[in-house]
Amino acid sequence: MQTVLIVGGGASGMTAAITAAEDSQNRVILIEKQARVGKKLLATGNGCCNLSNTDLSIENYFGADVSFVIPALKRFGLDATLAFFASLGLLTRAEESGKIYPYSMQAGSVLDILRFALERPNIDVRCDTAALSVSRKDSGFSVETSSGRILSDKLIIACGGMAAPKLGGTMDGYELLKALGHSRTALYPSLVQIKTDNTYPRALKGIKTDARVSIISGNRDIRSSFGEVLFTEYGLSGPAIFEISRFVSTEKGLSVSLDLMPEHGESDIADLLFKRLKNAKNLNCENFLTGFLNKRLGQMVLKYAGIGLAIPCSSLTNDIIHKIVKSIKDFRLPVTGTTGFENAQVTAGGIRTSEFYSETLESRLCPGLFAAGEVLDIDGRCGGYNLQWAWSSGMLAGKLGRL
Ligand SMILES: Cc1cc2nc3c(=O)[nH]c(=O)nc-3n(C[C@H](O)[C@H](O)[C@H](O)COP(=O)(O)OP(=O)(O)OC[C@H]3O[C@@H](n4cnc5c(N)ncnc54)[C@H](O)[C@@H]3O)c2cc1C
Repeated sequence: MQTVLIVGGGASGMTAAITAAEDSQNRVILIEKQARVGKKLLATGNGCCNLSNTDLSIENYFGADVSFVIPALKRFGLDATLAFFASLGLLTRAEESGKIYPYSMQAGSVLDILRFALERPNIDVRCDTAALSVSRKDSGFSVETSSGRILSDKLIIACGGMAAPKLGGTMDGYELLKALGHSRTALYPSLVQIKTDNTYPRALKGIKTDARVSIISGNRDIRSSFGEVLFTEYGLSGPAIFEISRFVSTEKGLSVSLDLMPEHGESDIADLLFKRLKNAKNLNCENFLTGFLNKRLGQMVLKYAGIGLAIPCSSLTNDIIHKIVKSIKDFRLPVTGTTGFENAQVTAGGIRTSEFYSETLESRLCPGLFAAGEVLDIDGRCGGYNLQWAWSSGMLAGKLGRL
């Protein structure tokens, strides 16, 4: 019999515990510093838990060495993950977009079936128990917790990252691994709202629109996405913004460009506007873009182009029409930052993956030590990729080096 201590009762820690307990020779202790396991899981996917995606290609992941995810995703990829959940009694469904949810569309179902699976004689779940420090002993590890010392033969750190501190986000995992000789990359928030010069967004607060969104540095388009954008008091939110937010923390002097009519080219829009001009001669500019864009957004585009809303449409010249086209295709806002870890779904960066074996997730520096989930320098796009990494890495770490 060996004792396996898992620190962190989140997505990866619970999966690791269930997997490790499949071997009856393992006595598993799972400690969680919050009052309940899986608090963050309940908040995922707007309470529906987008637990995976039908397209798990490596392009959906980021990190200093993104190929690190390959062995885990090969061994415990989509089929194995869905089979794991099915074996616990969870039915799932895939949306046309590829996102996978529990059939019940309730994150609570995912947490419940994991909690039921943790109820095994060889798993001991201890909530309200925080790991405070760790040291290496000759034959294993000694972990000081808020409820006393725990000695273990094997140790899995699954403390997650810095994102969403109200749901358990913390530096603890990085600190515990540092004490065992590990190091980390810079950390920054990802899948988070973007702060911009808020002159226009504030006036548009609450309005949603589909747009192509690009992060621009000088004349360089760093990253683009397409989807829903929400204007807010401080800047921009919504799935298309989350998607590119990772790239906002990496450079200064960036701006966001919104293409508000992405399905139409510039000349196409110019033709449509000239046609519109013919039947809008009696109107003021205030209503020139009514029928093209959300009314308030259309008015803001005109203001952005420097056109007074009270002037008659009949005064719009060819040059001004082309200026409006430019504003629709490149509504640009200087970026001032993100809303931070407080509001982020994920931490980009983490413990250096070069210090772990990708085939087992065992430390190269400290035999018997494993890590799983967000604490490692791996993060994914929006769409179920982060939970999939938590499940895959949790299952792999829970194998404790068994191939
Ligand atoms: C609002 C929100 C929505 C999200 N939606 C999705 C989604 O739909 N799909 C998706 O793929 N991803 C989503 N994510 C991201 C996803 O939840 C995380 O990437 C994933 O939970 C990471 O799993 P983890 O096990 O590494 O960490 P966590 O799930 O964060 O678990 C870590 C656990 O360790 C505990 N812990 C930390 N330190 C200690 C300590 N010292 N001692 C004991 N316990 C400790 C924490 O309390 C926590 O419970 C979302 C995140 C947020 C915040």
